[in-house]
Amino acid sequence: MIFQRTVPQRLSLQPLPDKFADFLRTFAFTGAGGATAAESVEIATPFLSQPLGWVPKVSADVAVEAFDKARAVQPEWHELGVKKRAKIIEKFHDLVLSNRELIMDLVQLEMGKARSGAFDEVTDVANNARYYAGQAPRLLRPQKKRGGMPVLTTTYLHHDPKGVVGQISPWNYPFSLGIADAIPALLAGNTVVAKPDSHTPFTMLLIAHLLSEAGLPDGVFTVVIGSGGVVGSAIAENCDFLMFTGSTATGKILAEQVSKRLVGFSAELGGKNPMIVAKDANLDTAVRAITHACLSNTGQLCVSIERIYVEHDIYDEFCEKLAEAFQSQKLGGALNWKHQVGSLVSASQLETVQEFVDDAKAAGARVLTGGKARPDVGKYFYEPTILLDVPDSARLLREEVFGPVVYIQPVADLDEAVAAANDTCYGLNSSVFAAPKTAWKIAPRVQAGSVNINDGYVAGWASVDSPIGGYKESGVSRRHGAEGLYKYTEPKTIAQQRGFPIWGPRCLPQKAWSKVLSRSLSLGKKTGLLR
Ligand code: NAP
Repeated sequence: MIFQRTVPQRLSLQPLPDKFADFLRTFAFTGAGGATAAESVEIATPFLSQPLGWVPKVSADVAVEAFDKARAVQPEWHELGVKKRAKIIEKFHDLVLSNRELIMDLVQLEMGKARSGAFDEVTDVANNARYYAGQAPRLLRPQKKRGGMPVLTTTYLHHDPKGVVGQISPWNYPFSLGIADAIPALLAGNTVVAKPDSHTPFTMLLIAHLLSEAGLPDGVFTVVIGSGGVVGSAIAENCDFLMFTGSTATGKILAEQVSKRLVGFSAELGGKNPMIVAKDANLDTAVRAITHACLSNTGQLCVSIERIYVEHDIYDEFCEKLAEAFQSQKLGGALNWKHQVGSLVSASQLETVQEFVDDAKAAGARVLTGGKARPDVGKYFYEPTILLDVPDSARLLREEVFGPVVYIQPVADLDEAVAAANDTCYGLNSSVFAAPKTAWKIAPRVQAGSVNINDGYVAGWASVDSPIGGYKESGVSRRHGAEGLYKYTEPKTIAQQRGFPIWGPRCLPQKAWSKVLSRSLSLGKKTGLLR
């Protein structure tokens, strides 16, 4: 049995449908040997002491088999045409919204987040599906370009698919990061082989089920479950393009692996995201948004805020208000909307967060609120935590915690705040809380792939028409917008020459032609005709 329901009454978890076990079994790719040949792996849930279920564990050979299958069906998928592919993604969009309760149940059970965080995943996927299904037919249409020679050269830009895209994703947003980046890859005519994180395989199988219900042909999106070192590595060795989301450390390993084969690579990696709070910010409205920016998904969010620089004049008032807001958050693990802060994903994540806080305390940092685990609420719960006076020697000053922990530092002015915000090896997301006039001056100076004004991360993330990603060690390439689609394509220029060649007509000697061409180029620049 691949999935077993273990839902005790005391947590009032909603039961999941019976057909669940069947479709999970159907969508886990186990190769020619079938599910029975595969060893199984137990999947834990942060909410319960019993396992959530079991999945087959496969070898690297099975991943290679998945690529063979994906490669065989890719030409047909491409030939179907972008409009027909878009119709399937539109249907998927509708299925995501109509199945949202099931999706949220599963995401919560697998990784322990609060229901509001699970709903964010539903809306993010729907947003990406709607946007790319709407835009891909236009973006992928052959585009007329300026020819090498006006009138005589006709030039078109085409976008061919890369082939088979390999996707490796993390556990923190298993639904959203499991499919949102694959949607443009599929629309561009690629097939996809996807590896979920070992903590969250069931959500990826649900994605495959919904895609199939939407009409996606067999073999176009294949899920291979297994560890990063085995299946992840096989994906990097066999793909025509790699889409990776995860830690900077793994991103560097994979970059080395794919670059040896000269294969393209897109990476969404870690961050240590700063927020600047100016003295002209409206603190009362800011504090609610800032709390969300730090604690959403229990801080296990690549774009969440982990450091706050506040102008000195408002520092005391700000600390007091943010501490009150953190203390008012309801912690809990159940499939309902009663709690704002959920669990951490695992024992090791809890240990990591506690180690960071203990290290900062030992170095001299002060705990304003929180700072400890909450086993009374659930096995991996941790209190929303604010640290002050964090010294240079504390590891969390610069390293990503990936938990509900933030520190606040006073700054003399906004120049100091910008310098502190940029003093990092990362550059994923950032935020500025200020009067709009001040904020729009500060925002362009922050070195990050997104800068949110009077919001923590949602404004930038939800703007799917505009690319998002990381500066420095936070990433390579971008997701969202036209960039998020074109990265999965090979741009191809097709140019037709008429009349005579650009290197000269038959009737003119080369020297005379060189004079004519030079004069034409000068004239073209002067008149603006060749710009
Ligand atoms: P991770 O260790 O890098 O794991 C992410 C994925 O990579 C998992 O599927 C993992 O597989 C796989 N993997 C691990 N080692 C591998 C290897 N040697 N070869 C191939 N694949 C390998 O990341 P994490 O620590 O779990 O996730 C949290 C990190 O992701 C944070 O740093 C966070 O900021 C970042 N993140 C970034 C974004 C973004 O959009 N920028 C979004 C979410 C998270 P297994 O775990 O199954 O072995």
